[in-house]
Amino acid sequence: MKYLGNKVGNGLALGKVYIINTKIPKIKTRNLTTVGAINKEKEDLKQIIEKVSKDYESLENEALEDEIKQLCNFYKILLSSNSLIGTMEEVIAKEKCDKITAITKVMKQKEEELSLVDNAYLKERSKDIEDVTNKLIRKALGIKEIDLSRLDEDTILVAEEISPSVLLSNNLKYVKGIVSELGGKTSHVAILASTLGIPSVFGIKEISKTLNDDDIIYVNGNEGYIETNLTETQKKNIKDKIRKEELLKNSLIEMKDKKSRTKDNQKLEITANAGELSELDKLLEVNCDGIGLFRTEFLFLNRSIPPTEDYLFNIYKSFAEKLNGKPLIIRTLDIGGDKKCPYIDIKEEQNPFLGYRAIRYCLDNKEFFKVSLRAILRASKYGNVKIMYPMISSLEEIYKANEILDEAKADLASKNIPFNKNIKVGIMIEVPSTAIVADMLIDEVDFFSIGTNDLIQYTVAVDRLNPTVSGLYSFYNPGVIRLIKNTIDAVKDKKSKFVGMCGEMAADPLAIILLVGLGLQEFSVNASMVLKVKKLISLIDSNEAKDIANKILKLKTAKEVETYLDSKAKKIYGKYY
Ligand code: PEP
Ligand code: MG
Repeated sequence: MKYLGNKVGNGLALGKVYIINTKIPKIKTRNLTTVGAINKEKEDLKQIIEKVSKDYESLENEALEDEIKQLCNFYKILLSSNSLIGTMEEVIAKEKCDKITAITKVMKQKEEELSLVDNAYLKERSKDIEDVTNKLIRKALGIKEIDLSRLDEDTILVAEEISPSVLLSNNLKYVKGIVSELGGKTSHVAILASTLGIPSVFGIKEISKTLNDDDIIYVNGNEGYIETNLTETQKKNIKDKIRKEELLKNSLIEMKDKKSRTKDNQKLEITANAGELSELDKLLEVNCDGIGLFRTEFLFLNRSIPPTEDYLFNIYKSFAEKLNGKPLIIRTLDIGGDKKCPYIDIKEEQNPFLGYRAIRYCLDNKEFFKVSLRAILRASKYGNVKIMYPMISSLEEIYKANEILDEAKADLASKNIPFNKNIKVGIMIEVPSTAIVADMLIDEVDFFSIGTNDLIQYTVAVDRLNPTVSGLYSFYNPGVIRLIKNTIDAVKDKKSKFVGMCGEMAADPLAIILLVGLGLQEFSVNASMVLKVKKLISLIDSNEAKDIANKILKLKTAKEVETYLDSKAKKIYGKYY
């Protein structure tokens, strides 16, 4: 049986289904009528709390970071306090209610208590109580925990929605594929999956309810479908296909030591998008020309307190040093949208992608913003570090951000902490208003990086997470192409400035031909795509690409653009397409 979804890419996979369920079902309160039932409920409660405490203890022992150890220890102590269990037992006895009702009630009180104490650390913990409560309820309901470290065979994660934190916090050795009901190909979890090179298909309705744990399924991330109920012959054919794909991948290894050049030897940069320290070795392995987008927000997610300036600085410094003079473009925090942190107070919004996001939040929270800026500035002493502001929509925001940057520089100067005083500052072009006036903005910055993931969603008014309208989200929309051309043209005669692209479009084989033709200078792509993009670009003649781009600028529909590019790609790329 075949189910179609959105292709997120990253290849093919075969494995056993593991359904991830993070939702807590709504539960009606049960009234207990006998003393025996009340005692049994109390006994069950004790066992649940004991089990969850034990889970925290194992997490504490396994955690590598001190902060995580400290947190697990805190939860363990919280749960083993006699007063907590005592109060829950009292609620069960007095109200004759079930354990889940008691847990919910008492944990809510605990949350309120902690939020009022005069101790910043404990106050902060009040926000995690919900997580601990959910863990207790899941245990009470027998819902299994998401613990990927216990996997021991090839697995396909299947969920209604997978949060980025599931992929950040777990050992993914056996995770070979991801299938989800929600999330478009440019959702942040899709980007993470690409960075990690995990074949994925999103947007298959009801799939987490249709499949069962341990079903064997085939995920084709390249074409956007999955297959179930496979016969032995089908499984064998799929395994052959996967092996072939692996061989093609290996044939790209020769590109590692080659320079990034078009067929006619035009110089370009192929940089990588990065998000966390653990990726650094992978990035160095593919020998990219630098990092065109460091998504710093991944360092802020999946934790309950903000990272410190020193923590950020040390990570940025490691990247800067290891890149050994190659550029490292560090994007300031792009939080909001589909990326939420418990300690960043962004209210529920109807349209989070149009809301309090990225630079908007940072400009309003100056001291918080300065922590990140100082960390970047300090790292600039150790390599070719550049700063990039996300979600800029007007010149005023650039002025304001630069004012705060000047204050961060002054903070460091007053303490004699070294940094590169001439650090280059650029912006992402991901809001149409900036692409339209790119010629005005370029004088105020050192570079542009086109963020097509957002630029397209804002231009064609399609939520990048919404599978129902994902058919309208297209790299080849003529309106989008004009905005990209306008941005590239604005930088053309500015000698010391450059324009790159760090959205997923930069790795799209068809779009690459157009982008080379339009004169894009830097392609920043996921680590798993660097060698492939380098190979594809080495097959393109820049003059031919220019002619193709000129022809495309006259085409009126996305379909015409795609069909035309597809015919050219077949000839230009041959077996690599
Ligand atoms: C983009 O919008 O294209 C981009 C690279 O930023 P992000 O995907 O992190 O929003
Ligand atoms: Mg973006």
